[in-house]
Amino acid sequence: MVTRTLKDPSEYEDDVYVTGWLHDRLEDRLVEERKVKSKETRYNNLYMRMAYDVATMSHARRKKVGCIIVKDGNTISMGWNGMPSGYENCCEQVIGVDDVGSPTYKTNREVLHAEANALMKLAKSTNSSEGATMYITCSPCFECAKLIHQAGISKVIYAEEYRDKKGVDFLRKSGIIVNNDDVNNIDNATYNIYTIKD
Ligand SMILES: [Zn+2]
Repeated sequence: MVTRTLKDPSEYEDDVYVTGWLHDRLEDRLVEERKVKSKETRYNNLYMRMAYDVATMSHARRKKVGCIIVKDGNTISMGWNGMPSGYENCCEQVIGVDDVGSPTYKTNREVLHAEANALMKLAKSTNSSEGATMYITCSPCFECAKLIHQAGISKVIYAEEYRDKKGVDFLRKSGIIVNNDDVNNIDNATYNIYTIKD
């Protein structure tokens, strides 16, 4: 049988002091981490609001999408879904009417997605997309995901989920950080003012 001898309480004093000190330092670190996190969340929300504002520039009737590219705290590009420069600003053709008499649309083949437009705008500038963060109001499609990867974007943050998840899967497989956790707590009702659901 093993007998345990308890130390005299005075022998614990140093230990208690060290534990208390460590505890306080850990508390400090947690508070700091929380501050950093909330600052990051606040900035994420800010850029996402900007992306939604950018989306309002789109002439699309089915779904307006906005995209912002941020690097070192600066917005270096933006884009929304639309026709190429010089083309008429009409993104869809009416192809019929639905059960309740509302027109149904088909998106023109020429329409460029918000992400592609933001990247192409950046390509014409002196800035680089290498290591930048992209904020999109809607998760990217597979075609845009390929462009995002190739452009060297390191992080993608989106608000709404696109029906096809292949783009996000591709980005994750390519080692790009993808999340929409930080924007989950954004007041989506505010954003829905800007978005016309298809
Ligand atoms: Zn796309």
